Amino acid sequence: MVIVFDLDDTLYEELSFVRSGFQAVADYLSPLIQMSREQIIAGLQAEVALQRERVFDRFLLKQGIKNQALVKRCVSVYRGHEPQLTLFPEARACLARLQKEALYIVTDGNQLVQRKKYLALGLDRLVRRCFFTYAHGLHRRKPSPYCFEKICQLEKVSPSAVVYIADNPYKDFVGIKPLGFQTGRVLTGPYRDVQVEEAYAADFTIPNLQAFNDALLQQLEGRKSSCPPFK
Ligand SMILES: [Mg+2]
Repeated sequence: MVIVFDLDDTLYEELSFVRSGFQAVADYLSPLIQMSREQIIAGLQAEVALQRERVFDRFLLKQGIKNQALVKRCVSVYRGHEPQLTLFPEARACLARLQKEALYIVTDGNQLVQRKKYLALGLDRLVRRCFFTYAHGLHRRKPSPYCFEKICQLEKVSPSAVVYIADNPYKDFVGIKPLGFQTGRVLTGPYRDVQVEEAYAADFTIPNLQAFNDALLQQLEGRKSSCPPFK
């Protein structure tokens, strides 16, 4: 079986990257704006809780600082920092259990940031390859099936021999389901309570990756059809 995982909020908590980025930005900003690290971190967390966009802009404006160059430097400190991340315990155990299978990751997002996360989590030692969708062109981000089709070609299998495990029902399953890929939703991260219509829904749902066990793997193997390999 070819098992493909999403990265953010499937294998680790994305907010932990946000927190670690805010610490790096606070280290950078603290001497420049005469505020303590802790105050800055608290301020950034308050902003991100309101809205994910333009956090540094809004935080600095609240301190009476209007400086686009400084905002840009905060963004690059955030994106460029070396994150301290850990896999969900269930994800770590699951990846260890599945080492005999062909494991991949497909992830959207800024390529440099995603690569740092991937390496910080030690995933380069646990999966065959990670596809950073943005590296193939923005139009190939999810829900585009492009990277999934690449995996079929690499493994010489049909889509039905591939399962994608991910957390975001708005984009993770809708593009690949019609092609016959198997899909599994894991109820971790901010979308866990989201309900979607059939086209967006995964074939099966699990509470976390501990439930990705041998019995489930056998069921998935059973669902593989005799389709010819993807061309
Ligand atoms: Mg995700």
